[in-house]
Amino acid sequence: MPVEIPSPQPLNPHVAAMQPSATLAMSARAKARRRAGHDVISLSAGEPDFDTPAPVVEAAHQALREGFTHYTPNAGIPELREAIAEKLRRENGLEVEAAQVLCSNGAKQSVAQAVLALCQPGDEVLIPAPYWVSYPEMARLVGATPVIVETTPESHYTMTPEQLDDAITERTRLLVFNSPSNPTGAVYSPEEMAALAEVLQAHERVFVVSDEIYEYVLFDAVHTTFGALPGMAERTVTVNGFSKGYAMTGWRLGYAAGPQWIISAMAKVQSQFTSAPSSITQKAGLAALAMSREPIEEMVAAFRRRRDFMLDRLAHWPEVDCPKPEGAFYLFPDISSHFGRTASDGTVIGGSEDFAMYLLEQHDVATVAGHAFGADYGLRLSYAASMEDLEKAATRIEAALDGLN
Ligand code: PMP
Ligand code: GLU
Repeated sequence: MPVEIPSPQPLNPHVAAMQPSATLAMSARAKARRRAGHDVISLSAGEPDFDTPAPVVEAAHQALREGFTHYTPNAGIPELREAIAEKLRRENGLEVEAAQVLCSNGAKQSVAQAVLALCQPGDEVLIPAPYWVSYPEMARLVGATPVIVETTPESHYTMTPEQLDDAITERTRLLVFNSPSNPTGAVYSPEEMAALAEVLQAHERVFVVSDEIYEYVLFDAVHTTFGALPGMAERTVTVNGFSKGYAMTGWRLGYAAGPQWIISAMAKVQSQFTSAPSSITQKAGLAALAMSREPIEEMVAAFRRRRDFMLDRLAHWPEVDCPKPEGAFYLFPDISSHFGRTASDGTVIGGSEDFAMYLLEQHDVATVAGHAFGADYGLRLSYAASMEDLEKAATRIEAALDGLN
């Protein structure tokens, strides 16, 4: 349901039309219910439940001890930009210099600044659904029109080149692309992405924001960087960050890299809105890039075990289908065959929001309704939770399904 906030005077109409983040709202609701004394299991938050690796924490302590607590250059400290550029060249095949890297307060800010820099009222922004909740709202904020390209569980939630081609008009300005995907965990293969890039080559006006924040959370798949595909470097802004891969959600560090003119425009916006991310966080980010990959690999191995556990349980849920995700830490089952059923207190489950509220209020499991991701048939389950909690949550969801008439 759209959230309307009453205002005594007119707001900026773009802000009035914007929806608050449903993922953050559901996480807050789960926490509030827990504070009120309920034993809530949260599968709502999109954040690793692991601690930030020790070398990262130590680097932050050191920054504090050394008094590295002042403003840094707007785009980030030179050594961090250089380390990120080096990572992008080495791991992603992107030929970028440090000057083409902009550090921001999270990947969310990086995506928002790219949309702000590139789009204007009247432009169309292509967003494959199910999508991360913030993309359409960012487009709306600049007066652009989100154009949703529907994918399905049958196609493993990937957009085909034909779908992309059909969606492009002379107003299309941007494709917001996200692989591995939040909320589906879908990962595009290199061949699938090359086919999408081929379509875009024929449309010079269309740019890409490639949100690669789940790059390291991959199971049986390989990661492909959109900007490294033929002809795409000149019109792709690659977004990534430290939140997911390094369990650093609270530190707020993300970055964008791409053509200099776009990055410079984004940096101008940042200089007037927020300035650089925290000096301490930047030092922590530098340590993250330098540390051994072992803690990341352990975290991803744990996510894989949890994914497999949840998929096993889900396989027994009546009339619930869920493609096997190859990345990120979400499952996005189709639960729509349970719509129209009634809970013991008479509540009718009309759609995904009712379903999520039923799970939270009557069975103490927090999830996020598919509605917020542009796919009302689904429900997002984050398995970034302990095995013990996942076990309990699965049992509760099974009881919830049994409890519907
Ligand atoms: N993109 C996607 C797809 C996400 O799931 C998230 C999660 N918060 C972000 C961007 C933003 O990450 P952050 O701002 O924490 O770097
Ligand atoms: N991206 C995470 C999620 O989808 C964190 C919340 C947010 O930033 O939206 O749950």
